[in-house]
Amino acid sequence: MNVPVPPPGGGCRTAPVLKQRGQREVFCGLTGIIWLHRKMQDAFFLVVGSRTCAHLLQSAAGVMIFAEPRFGTAILEEQDLAGMKDAHTELDREVARLLERRPDIRQLFLVGSCPSEVIKIDLARAAERLSQIHAPHVRVLNYSGSGIETTFTEGEDACLASMVPVLKDTVARELLLVGALPDVVEDQMLALLGQMGIDNIRLLPARRIDDTTAVGPNTVFALTQPFMGDTHAALIRRGARHIAAPMPFGDEGTTAWLRAIALEFGVPDATFDAVTAAPRARARRAIAQAAEHLRGKSIFFFPDSQLEIPLARFLTRECGMTAIEVGSPYIHDAIHGPDLDLLPAGPQISEGQDVDLQLDRVRAARPDLTVCGLGLANPLEAEGLTTKWAIELVFTPVHFYEQAGDLAGLFSRPIRRKAALRLEAAQ
Ligand code: SF4
Repeated sequence: MNVPVPPPGGGCRTAPVLKQRGQREVFCGLTGIIWLHRKMQDAFFLVVGSRTCAHLLQSAAGVMIFAEPRFGTAILEEQDLAGMKDAHTELDREVARLLERRPDIRQLFLVGSCPSEVIKIDLARAAERLSQIHAPHVRVLNYSGSGIETTFTEGEDACLASMVPVLKDTVARELLLVGALPDVVEDQMLALLGQMGIDNIRLLPARRIDDTTAVGPNTVFALTQPFMGDTHAALIRRGARHIAAPMPFGDEGTTAWLRAIALEFGVPDATFDAVTAAPRARARRAIAQAAEHLRGKSIFFFPDSQLEIPLARFLTRECGMTAIEVGSPYIHDAIHGPDLDLLPAGPQISEGQDVDLQLDRVRAARPDLTVCGLGLANPLEAEGLTTKWAIELVFTPVHFYEQAGDLAGLFSRPIRRKAALRLEAAQ
């Protein structure tokens, strides 16, 4: 089996981390609903919030809002805010109306927002009460997606963590794979593990509630996304054990991730190599092609999704880039550690944000590529920097071998576009 070689000058796991707290330019956790509702086909996400929250969902979802999506906002009106109406009676009525109209819904998430948290609506109690009213057909859970509590992808973490306490108990030795992946990527992952003879697999989130995902002392779990701090803790509280591994991005990350699971389940080396050889070769070819424009270029990550550290590892080791700064909203040693071990020493690792100071750093460094949110991308482009919108990395299939070339392509596209525009201007 192939073991990833640690960088000769050491990795970044023990590098000093620049921690800053100040003005932030990030999404709140409500945005997680956009991809979660597509994954969980019998779930509905009801945000209890303001018109601001509804607008955020509307603009983040783009054209999806015309496709009768399974999410919506119960808007808190002035009378609710002034405490003149019983918010719980209102909510019960809204939920009853919704479930009557949409009998296909089997799980309902009451999603907390800044306004619902500030006026302290007890959504946990509401979820318990509504679960009793609508059981057994509908399960009602609660989590917070507010900007006060959560940053962007943390919304998914909060959602999955809210499901862990209600998972059934099991003593079976099972592999639980955690993180919402596009169906096509999930199928590839299951096929690779299946070919190695590992098929006692459960998924969190499952596509439907009827899928009997369970957890117990013999459960081992692997994360397919790096933003799972709370879910990781909740699973450990239920007795499950984490298989630490780099995230499955690129050829190397995917191989190391699969290898950690293969070792846990005693898969023979020969089987592992036979299963991974062809897709690895394909991934390597695709990466080499897409990385042509990335080699020798520098990159700077603003914090956004917690994908930054594994992506920096992929881009430096497999695409020949140099990282100047790798910012992440949060760094969790048990989760990000294996990727930090492999990320060559050198870049400033930063956690949290004081956006003005970080903008000063990016202007001073003038990297070839800056990964940042939409709020910063166009202003930085106007200053002559080339940017990559971070949100695309969360919506696009980027995990495992078959997507490795596309992943590198997402970063090379803005560089190629800039070169093409320059050429056009010169002609
Ligand atoms: S939850 Fe908070 S940060 Fe998110 S849209 Fe609503 S008000 Fe804004």
